[in-house]
Amino acid sequence: MKSTLVFVLSAAAAFAQSQPDPNFKIHDWSRPRPPVVDPGTPGTLDQPGRPPSDATVLFDGKDLAAWCSLDGSAPKWIVKQGVMECVKGSGYLRTLQNFGDCQLHLEWAAPTPPQGESQGRGNSGVFLMGLYEVQVLDCFENQTYADGQAGAVYAQYPPLVNAARPPGQWQTYDIIFTRPRFEAGGKLLSPARATVLHNGVLVQNNVTLTGPTGWMSRDAYSPHAEKLPLSLQDHGNPVRYRNIWVRELTDAAQKEFTYPAAVLDRCVGDYQFEDGLKIGVSRTNAHLLMTIGVPRGHQHLLFAESPVKFFARDVDAHLIFQTNAHGVSGGVTFWIAGESRKGKKLLPPAR
Ligand code: MG
Repeated sequence: MKSTLVFVLSAAAAFAQSQPDPNFKIHDWSRPRPPVVDPGTPGTLDQPGRPPSDATVLFDGKDLAAWCSLDGSAPKWIVKQGVMECVKGSGYLRTLQNFGDCQLHLEWAAPTPPQGESQGRGNSGVFLMGLYEVQVLDCFENQTYADGQAGAVYAQYPPLVNAARPPGQWQTYDIIFTRPRFEAGGKLLSPARATVLHNGVLVQNNVTLTGPTGWMSRDAYSPHAEKLPLSLQDHGNPVRYRNIWVRELTDAAQKEFTYPAAVLDRCVGDYQFEDGLKIGVSRTNAHLLMTIGVPRGHQHLLFAESPVKFFARDVDAHLIFQTNAHGVSGGVTFWIAGESRKGKKLLPPAR
């Protein structure tokens, strides 16, 4: 009896996330209704559909404004006739915005006439969080290893079926991704999971990723941020993409971006407020770092909500920088614990 109870309790704990909310009765009329979303329209082979109204559109055929190269420089893929195309040797693209748990829709087409064999034919890839690849490959009458086919979680899970269309035809991916969770100390709490539909056909059914994907490797997880940019692979083939949109599934209210260092560096400096408080803003890799009370105050990592608006996760604080015509910051508004202050940038000491 006791062991049965333990089993039931541990099973309940394991599935705690999918239990009905105990705060509401069955058919509780007072329970808040879900937000209303215009679902958009489905696409056809000729014409992309319209995204849901709450989606973040990453590419709508016009430009690469939502993208950059991995090093933060301008993207080098080309946009023509409403589609974006990988340019051999130009490098991966990544989004400026960061994403964690998400629903991702994209459409891609392999080059026609097809060139190359196996992994050399129409190869690209969708890297969730820049680390976890759902393979893009021309798999129409093209033999390759199963865990490298289109729709594979690369080097981990072959697709359940090969639902490929011929090269040149538009194909869809709909991906539901759950990011891995890490404890504060970095220990893995729960691995990443992925569900993938290829041309509407289920090819990955909530599979559990073993870690980042890679050629000839199954690396273990390394702790990383809750949100990271999504990237598209340059594997040397002119694969085309259109109609890319994403819906954040958690933390959707707090948008977060990874901007090039040059954008962040505009905000770097010391700022002084009327009450005498000084804060320092420096940069560490892809983040700004705020020191409240320079030179020896507490440091807080800042996350970008826009090129001029940043927030901390560990304290309730955010900053909005005022930039001049050259985009260089001259002042800042600083909110912390419900109070706001306006500050001026201090000129660096003369040498
Ligand atoms: Mg690939």
